[in-house]
Amino acid sequence: MGSSRTPRQVRIAIIGAGFSGLGMAIRLQQAGIGGFEILERADDIGGTWRDNSYPGCAVDVQSHLYSFSFAPNPEWSHTYSPQAEIWDYIKRIAAEHDVLRHVRFGHEVTGGEWDETTGRWLLHTTAGDVEAQFVISGMGPLSNPVPPDIPGLDTFAGHSFHSARWDHDHDLTGERVAVIGTGSSAAQFVPEIAPEVGRLLVFQRTPGWTFPRNNRRITAVEHAAYRRFPVLQRLARTRQYLYRETIAFLLQSPKRVGVIEGISRRRLRKQVADPELRAKLTPDYAMGCKRIIVTDDFHPALTRPNVSVITEAISEIRPHAVVTADGTEHQVDTLILGTGFQVMPVADPLRGRDGVPLAQRWSTRREAYLGTTVAGYPNYFMLVGPNTATGHTSVLLYLEAQIDYVLQALHHLDRTGTSALDVRPDVQDAFNRDLAERLAGTVWTAGGCRSWYLDSDGGTSALWPGYTWQFQKALRHFEPADYRFGTTSDLDSVHTTRDLDLVKG
Ligand code: NAP
Repeated sequence: MGSSRTPRQVRIAIIGAGFSGLGMAIRLQQAGIGGFEILERADDIGGTWRDNSYPGCAVDVQSHLYSFSFAPNPEWSHTYSPQAEIWDYIKRIAAEHDVLRHVRFGHEVTGGEWDETTGRWLLHTTAGDVEAQFVISGMGPLSNPVPPDIPGLDTFAGHSFHSARWDHDHDLTGERVAVIGTGSSAAQFVPEIAPEVGRLLVFQRTPGWTFPRNNRRITAVEHAAYRRFPVLQRLARTRQYLYRETIAFLLQSPKRVGVIEGISRRRLRKQVADPELRAKLTPDYAMGCKRIIVTDDFHPALTRPNVSVITEAISEIRPHAVVTADGTEHQVDTLILGTGFQVMPVADPLRGRDGVPLAQRWSTRREAYLGTTVAGYPNYFMLVGPNTATGHTSVLLYLEAQIDYVLQALHHLDRTGTSALDVRPDVQDAFNRDLAERLAGTVWTAGGCRSWYLDSDGGTSALWPGYTWQFQKALRHFEPADYRFGTTSDLDSVHTTRDLDLVKG
């Protein structure tokens, strides 16, 4: 709901101060574009790397690749660095590039609408309204934790929390602990808590395919070399990029997927001697269909004598127990929900030219153009929007391509003296038809699993179905012919040089 106070005026409102929002802000600043604010709902920056602090939380893509190309970090401690280090990296680059002063904390965007007469967005935030010519969403594709829909969950009388809201004040030592979920998050925290709890019950609905991590410490010699000769770190990054693109190559045909499934199965045989447990942990769908779990210690942790993997469906939660469909009541002291996130709340609150909230337009399928713009929502750019998630490599590669694309769009408006742009619906439709064709029959849509990648109609508006370089190539040049330009109500005309000159200064 809007506030009665006069809205604060900004040229560009960026939503979210995580990797996306801060990366955008840094690049705007470098491009000499001012007048932006970052609206952040929390009281600190960092996004997902602020919120996820569970034991063992770390990146599952090599750190040289999971960092901005314009801000390499020679000091990464490990090939896959831990959460605290990544959060520090975000804070350091934000400070070094002097964008912290643009962050407005405690500003949760609760709604917003495009005003056709002024050609501006009116955003409603928990700290008042903000009017902006451009809105750039950096809300993150997985920022809102989701509790499972299990009867009686709210009656649980023991201690309970979601993995993304870890309660570090709660001591698990010696307790009977239940973990619901066996995705990438649980696979990281289960090996950490297993040795300290008394009894650990891991409730698994679907087993995940795993892939070796081979994490190791980066040596002092390597650190010194990266500091002295940055080209060496760029080479290491390129090697990791190519390694990850090879995984994309393997995931693109059922025959090749069979090869990596074989590697994963052989490793499972080595790590888990008990055939009954191994059977529980063996997926019955194609690898890649769900996010592959990059881990070396998850399966070994499940073989500990104090750990049980329970595959019977959960029917109910009672004040002190998790009850399974076979009627067994599993007594527990603490319940940890590793049940994942709402997918892509990137635009839920925003209403476009026809007043329809994007969440409603997207109720079955999220369709955008190049993951960045949506027809009918002028001057709105999404970072890590639809079809930009990656099952194989660093999302920051996709993010940087999008940031550069947004900069090109702003420069184009500036150069041509126009103030608003809206992607052509026919261009967006053709793009999505092509995506659907490329996705049909792949492991992501026909791999035989349930996953957060999938939409209710069986397609996926989460993933980019190819190589990273293909996404980068598609966004390399902003193509004006894909858009309608104008000031406000004349967005239907092809181009106008009328102008509000809002993009400058
Ligand atoms: P997730 O992959 O969505 O996994 C959720 C788990 O909870 C799944 O095992 C799911 O079972 C289970 N679950 C959900 N509802 C349930 C219910 N009602 N009853 C029983 N089980 C239920 O969530 P996540 O592990 O938090 O990971 C989310 C994403 O975050 C990952 O895919 C990845 O993209 C990202 N992530 C990245 C890193 C990193 O290092 N970069 C680390 C952690 C997470 P089903 O499989 O049957 O649905």
